[in-house]
Amino acid sequence: MASIFSKIVAGEIPCYKVAEDEKHLAFLDINPMAPGHTLVIPKQEIDYLFDMTESDYIDLELFARKVAVAIKEAIPCTRVAEAVLGLEVPHAHIHLVPINTEADMDFRHKTTLPGDQMASIAARIAAQVK
Ligand code: 5GP
Repeated sequence: MASIFSKIVAGEIPCYKVAEDEKHLAFLDINPMAPGHTLVIPKQEIDYLFDMTESDYIDLELFARKVAVAIKEAIPCTRVAEAVLGLEVPHAHIHLVPINTEADMDFRHKTTLPGDQMASIAARIAAQVK
């Protein structure tokens, strides 16, 4: 069965898209730890990030770096943090989270934001992707 993220890639489930290229997609996490919390995925479904080939992994990280730079431009923050968990969704993904303090990166405390706010955050980040 296709992962929920493959359904997002296929357009069967909506997302707040931030960036896309041929092999990768970046979209806002539905339950962000902080406004601008973004997930970066390979379009081709693979469960575990560290099972990716070296070349696919490097390409994903380079794409994530581009998105992280855009997040830093769009969202006032001290740093953009990167994390990998993969405990919930079995489709490799990188979390990018704009943070000011350690407490901003707490996977036990996520929130929801109104749809119009999510759409405007995604648009602000997308506008900064070079
Ligand atoms: P992890 O697998 O890294 O432990 O967590 C998966 C992340 O995906 C969580 O932060 C969760 O909020 C997010 N997530 C789960 N389902 C969806 C979804 O359908 N859409 C979006 N945008 N994010 C999701």
